[in-house]
Amino acid sequence: MPTKATEAENRSFAFKFVAGDPSLDFVNTVDWTEQGLRDDRLTDYDDLVLWGERSGVIPVEVALQLTAQQFSPQERTAALFAAQRLRDILQEIFARIADGREPDKDALQMLNESLGDAFSRLHLCLRGGEAADVALHWSWRGMGSEPTCMLWPVVKAAAALLAGEDVQRLRVCAGVACGWMYLDRSRNGLRRWCEMSTCGARAKARRHYEKTRARIGS
Ligand SMILES: [Zn+2]
Repeated sequence: MPTKATEAENRSFAFKFVAGDPSLDFVNTVDWTEQGLRDDRLTDYDDLVLWGERSGVIPVEVALQLTAQQFSPQERTAALFAAQRLRDILQEIFARIADGREPDKDALQMLNESLGDAFSRLHLCLRGGEAADVALHWSWRGMGSEPTCMLWPVVKAAAALLAGEDVQRLRVCAGVACGWMYLDRSRNGLRRWCEMSTCGARAKARRHYEKTRARIGS
């Protein structure tokens, strides 16, 4: 049955996972341009559930549980608003750090509040007969029943990134009207684009155009 989620997938600006970290991929669900946000991939609660599943922050069973919950329009709107707010906070913090600056105190406090909420749901439980190589496993209370549960692993990933050494690799794409973020894991540390096939190719085409114009003009 076609759903809004599959419609979201069919858009020309579908979800992409190019950042190397789910919290950055979450920031990259919209384009951050000087004129404001553009091509938001999260415009409906179903988009958020689908993003959670595709990014791997929630398993497919949880995505199905969330869809089956049939949350009220108010709950769906509130969850989408919470996701967009979290995305704003993360973008604000990551952008400053990528620029070699300290994060804004208010943004950090808001992230810490989200962190407190998310971590209060973490607990250890028995594996229930699954893989025997670990005694217990991490689980989230309310996963699959709370409308914003896909945001908890995003917050956890953001915290791990910010407090870890990988933060040194944090970059913002040099593309015009992009603003996507990624971890530069290239050997030479010179990755400039979110994707070579989009921003990289556009920059190449622009350079070619400018060169051609200069030659014709001379
Ligand atoms: Zn880009």
